[in-house]
Amino acid sequence: MAADSDKPWNHPSQAHLWRPYAQMQILPPPLKAVRTEGTQIHLEDGRVLIDGIASWWTAAHGYNPPAILAAMREQLDTMPHVMFGGLTHDPAITLSEKLIALAPAGLNRVFFTDSGSVSVEVAMKMALQYWQNQGQPGKNKFICFRGGYHGDTIGAMSVSDPEDSMHKAFKSTVAHQYVLDIPSDEYAFAEFEDTVQAIAKTVAGVIIEPLVQAAEGMRLHSADTLEAIHRVTKANNILFIADEVATGFGRTGSLFACNEAGISPDILCLGKALTGGCISLAATLASEEVFSAFLSDSSEKAFMHGPTYMANPLACAAANASLEIFTSGAYLTQVEAIESQLRDELWPLRFAEGVRDVRIKGAIGVVELDAEEIDKTWLNQRFVEHGVWIRPLKNVIYLMPAFTITRQDLQKLTSAITDVVAEWASSPR
Ligand SMILES: *Cc1c(COP(=O)(O)O)cnc(C)c1O
Repeated sequence: MAADSDKPWNHPSQAHLWRPYAQMQILPPPLKAVRTEGTQIHLEDGRVLIDGIASWWTAAHGYNPPAILAAMREQLDTMPHVMFGGLTHDPAITLSEKLIALAPAGLNRVFFTDSGSVSVEVAMKMALQYWQNQGQPGKNKFICFRGGYHGDTIGAMSVSDPEDSMHKAFKSTVAHQYVLDIPSDEYAFAEFEDTVQAIAKTVAGVIIEPLVQAAEGMRLHSADTLEAIHRVTKANNILFIADEVATGFGRTGSLFACNEAGISPDILCLGKALTGGCISLAATLASEEVFSAFLSDSSEKAFMHGPTYMANPLACAAANASLEIFTSGAYLTQVEAIESQLRDELWPLRFAEGVRDVRIKGAIGVVELDAEEIDKTWLNQRFVEHGVWIRPLKNVIYLMPAFTITRQDLQKLTSAITDVVAEWASSPR
């Protein structure tokens, strides 16, 4: 039967596609991209958009970075893939060494996966089995935080904000975890400490997005708060899991957000910018203390996980080239320059009509609008008319551009935000 092609969900651009996070009956069909370059997305109809969000925060070095593409081409010609069970290869060995050299002290083992969500699943399984292997199976819950997001899979959803989140439809299905507020003052901190003490016997791990709770609303907390949460976690014999899938690789102004608090997690999740936005790859890093709980004379205590495309050589080659760029050090100055320009150009918006808050941290600029729900499609379309690619989340408009963005392009992004927010605030809603 011929599809009813006047319906948006049957538009030829997506007649057989199921799109992410999208009510396809309401949303207009997506824009078709044909080429990327630097911080630009070229559309089929000839329009060119300046990307303010680096393709879901991945393309930190800008699109098509020549050094990464060259490394991938070379790998493509020799061995794009080989299974990781029973075999190993240089791209993975090199990448594990590089990651351990860069990561917070104490992390010593790398488990590769394909996506951030799976890196979180792996972290959770590691934490659960870590206690089980030591005869403490009762430590099988997680402490997580309101406003957090850790991925779309069942385990990751269970540690994301269950109430007010994109996953609330699954609230009754996913495992029940302890969802606490990130303590914001001394009083709240004392309460947090008491709660953790009371439930510690049943808790395998605390999982947190250090410094920036990203996808669930771009909320910030201080390095002192992070350090204090880490201290309480460790004092109560609980593993500390840092999900730096979004914050890792310089986004907050240091290579890892944990560095700013001077802490080393027991387990660290990385993804997104790991390959500079060129191909999917994620990693879960663990301390030698965690790893050694899986060593045994019998096969029983082994970690039972192994994605089919684990440590894909092509992706590892891309990540190795990406890490070379990160270690060259220029990113720090780039992020500093972005942060100061965001302060100059977005900060004044905190006095603008319709704006509740402006938050800036490293190469992240957030404008929270004074409404619970905003018409994100209208905003996105207005941004496209301004020649920029910005996709609001919840009630926030945010920028997480490539670190290589030029001053002029960043200025176009911030002035588009200023204009569109003014238009939004003065229109009836
Ligand atoms: C994006 C994100 C994830 C999920 O990563 P995917 O690659 O989309 O599965 C997990 N945790 C955090 C903090 C993220 O920002």
